[in-house]
Amino acid sequence: CGIVGYVGPRDSQAILLSGLARLEYRGYDSAGIAVIDQGGALDMRKRAGKLKVLRDDLASHPMPDGTTGIGHTRWATHGGPTDANAHPHLADDDRLAVIHNGIIENFAELKADLLSLGYTFRSETDTEVAAVLLGHEYRASGDLVTAFRSVVRRLEGAFTLLAMHQDQPGLVVGARRNSPLVIGLGDGENFLGSDVAAFVEHTRNALAIGQDEIVAITPDGVEITDFDGSAVEASPFEVVWDA
Ligand code: GLU
Repeated sequence: CGIVGYVGPRDSQAILLSGLARLEYRGYDSAGIAVIDQGGALDMRKRAGKLKVLRDDLASHPMPDGTTGIGHTRWATHGGPTDANAHPHLADDDRLAVIHNGIIENFAELKADLLSLGYTFRSETDTEVAAVLLGHEYRASGDLVTAFRSVVRRLEGAFTLLAMHQDQPGLVVGARRNSPLVIGLGDGENFLGSDVAAFVEHTRNALAIGQDEIVAITPDGVEITDFDGSAVEASPFEVVWDA
């Protein structure tokens, strides 16, 4: 239900958690974050319940921090509000993480295809199907943007989708169809959010992402394309906000 992404020089856990707190007004039943740590490994923690449950869990059992990260609050549509169904969902031997707002209408067909290829699933969500498909495509291309593009082209329904892979630290990719996603432009750091509230405490310079577009953010750059990979002109705006 709420989405935040970060790439830059700072440790991301606190940025992700405070972004998610600012998105709390939307309502949610679970929360989770994933980061790529200094050693180059992907770490993930997710819990059913309020953000406080996740925060307390991270406080009592800390996980390594990292400068590339994604965070999610879930409003369950496919599968009950459990730890396993919370996002992020991992794939490619837990080397990539995906978060998602919305509903992937054709997840059952895609899941059947992936099951027949021998893949297994750890949740009942539509989202994990996109994660496992992304892992499959990543193994084919070895490039996150290429793999992500081929995945989103196969998805039907409504989605804001974010992904990162530990083999490409410093990169978060996102896409949107019938669901919101905006970019926050920082100085040597960039943000993604389902709403400007996700990053407004760090920057008010934002870029709108159009329908059926893909964005790749790194600490120093933002690239927006359509689902076919053609470059798209970004639409800058300033966030007007009384915090
Ligand atoms: N359909 C997904 C799920 O049930 C995402 C729900 C959401 O938008 O938070 O996990």
